Amino acid sequence: MPLIMLTNDDGVNAPGLLALAEALGVLGRVVIVAPDRDNSAASHSLTMRRPLHVKEIAVDTYAIDGTPADCVMIGVNKVLPSRPDLVVSGINPGPNLGDDINYSGTVSAAREGTLLAIPSFAVSLVAANGEECRYPVAAAQARILATEVLERGLPANTLFNVNVPNRPAAEILGRRYTRQGRRLYDNAIQETFDPWGRRHYWIGGGTPHWSEEPDTDVQTVLVGYVSITPLHLDMTNHWALRELQND
Ligand SMILES: [Mg+2]
Repeated sequence: MPLIMLTNDDGVNAPGLLALAEALGVLGRVVIVAPDRDNSAASHSLTMRRPLHVKEIAVDTYAIDGTPADCVMIGVNKVLPSRPDLVVSGINPGPNLGDDINYSGTVSAAREGTLLAIPSFAVSLVAANGEECRYPVAAAQARILATEVLERGLPANTLFNVNVPNRPAAEILGRRYTRQGRRLYDNAIQETFDPWGRRHYWIGGGTPHWSEEPDTDVQTVLVGYVSITPLHLDMTNHWALRELQND
């Protein structure tokens, strides 16, 4: 029976994680190791200046007072009974598309799994702020993909970044493999004043504008397909490297 580790960046009690656990529970033994609180936009950070605590909060469910990457590293090496066959991160209640992948704790957890040589993918719902999330739709997509990955594995050093349109299942047009898109700009820094008149800044809440290039994750979810972007651990720009070496 496959051993599947689940994590997220929204905290161990997040509804997206529970929906994922329910959907993947039919495929094998599911063990949850997740942050004890919301860690969205934690990216791939590790906690190195204080100790980390693992708390068993239910059967096969553990909370760690750390980041998503901490959870995968400690979960795989110290908590799980053996190496998992699969790591799945999510379901994040908002998109992880284009440049935002750089900030995503959800995606970074899957990247940490890949660094540990375990097939891993991240799942996010393309829901707007405050919009009700259709977790069962994304969870069903995750189950299909998990079945395939358990059977065939993933390309070497590669994780999948999956984004599911927040639509009824019947309105999902299918799945497409895509490339990472680009965010052009947003107004994500709010500039306001505290009660004492001091200027302060709050990052978040902007409306992103995306480059409308074909085959990108952004365009693909907009038209109603599930987007699956294969991300590589090697961030080298091989094209630039060849140019530079030939100079
Ligand atoms: Mg999140």
